[in-house]
Amino acid sequence: MRYLVGRYHEINLKGNNRWRFVQQLKRNLRLIFAGYRLGPIRGEGARLLVELPDDLPEAAAVERAARVFGLQNFSIARRVASDLDHFKQAALELAGARPGVTFRVAARRSDKRFALTSPEIEREVGAFIVSRLGLKVDLANPELALTIEVLAAHSYVSAGKLSGAGGLPVGASGRGLALLSGGIDSPVAAWRMMGRGLALDFVHFHSHPLVSTASRDKAVELAARLARYQGSATLLLAPFAEVQRAVVARVPRALRVLLYRRFMMRIASELARLRRAQVLVTGESLGQVASQTLDNLAATERAAALPVLRPLLAMDKNEIVAQARKLGTFEISILPDEDCCTLFVPAHPALAAAETELAGAEAGLEVAALVARSVERCEKVRQGPALGERPLPCALPALSQPAGKTL
Ligand code: ATP
Ligand code: MG
Repeated sequence: MRYLVGRYHEINLKGNNRWRFVQQLKRNLRLIFAGYRLGPIRGEGARLLVELPDDLPEAAAVERAARVFGLQNFSIARRVASDLDHFKQAALELAGARPGVTFRVAARRSDKRFALTSPEIEREVGAFIVSRLGLKVDLANPELALTIEVLAAHSYVSAGKLSGAGGLPVGASGRGLALLSGGIDSPVAAWRMMGRGLALDFVHFHSHPLVSTASRDKAVELAARLARYQGSATLLLAPFAEVQRAVVARVPRALRVLLYRRFMMRIASELARLRRAQVLVTGESLGQVASQTLDNLAATERAAALPVLRPLLAMDKNEIVAQARKLGTFEISILPDEDCCTLFVPAHPALAAAETELAGAEAGLEVAALVARSVERCEKVRQGPALGERPLPCALPALSQPAGKTL
């Protein structure tokens, strides 16, 4: 019988409400393994033990488990009776599949009723593997780390621990709305906030028909990738062409990007309210571009009705790119598109604009009506329950949403 042994760490530091985090973690496990029939999920110490179905390939189990925020590390293990001969047999099978490797045995006796201590189990099983397979022991840097955990009812033997996603279970910290451009930064920002327990919806502003659907298509794909970390997700596609036309007609070039940003904040705040999200998330990083100077971040934020979380604020571009590559969003982000914010803007936008100047520029616009129309004409793309494993259709009909209703 194969089991997923998932170990959590940060959750363990929680006090009385630890059970709430563990419940969320269990729910998320089921969501992320959707499509496969997991057995009951049991908890023991800072571990979750889940029976895996036979039709779940090991590589898929590893890949999915690695996406579950809240698990510090995990193993795909065999469950055996707590008895030395069973440990030896299971270890022999695992090591037999890896001819010629160096190895060590790491035992952990959580159930102190078991007669042998952890070092004794390690020595016994190690010596057995050497005698049967002639493998070399390497305690410091083995190619195979056979792991034996002796728990109350059964024991679990695996070919080692794999790194989990860490952090907190998605949903345990609340709900957010992430502003997802087609760029490199915003998917990384969203992913990092999911890792702190935020369940996210996404919004992408697009200027179709002023530009092609390329950025929209990218946002759909990016949201699908990110949905894998929380089981499902909702992407809102907010039309932005009308805002841009209005801004271009009335606002001096140097202020346009900032005004676009402020409109995004207003529309996103309203969408967040409809979706019951408590915060906005952006991929802004201090000083990265003109619209992300301290003054401009502050000017952008003043237009938001909710706190704006910027998890990349202190990250360098190369760190962000490295993370995007690991996440698999980089390849999608670098596909060519026509970003709505590059439309009709000068080479040198304002680095700092006074609030009076911005408010003056906005006074000539029908701000509330423009915001309301974008919200009303928002399209909704739902990712899941297939976890965004499949590409999703893009051209969905617009959903008309009178304000006051939930989206
Ligand atoms: P990114 O790689 O995320 O596009 P960037 O460095 O290009 O970041 P900007 O274009 O200045 O940065 O955008 C800053 C942030 O504003 C983005 O990270 C994103 O959160 C939000 N944003 C920008 N354009 C859009 C858009 N079209 N739709 C949704 N959010 C957007
Ligand atoms: Mg961008």
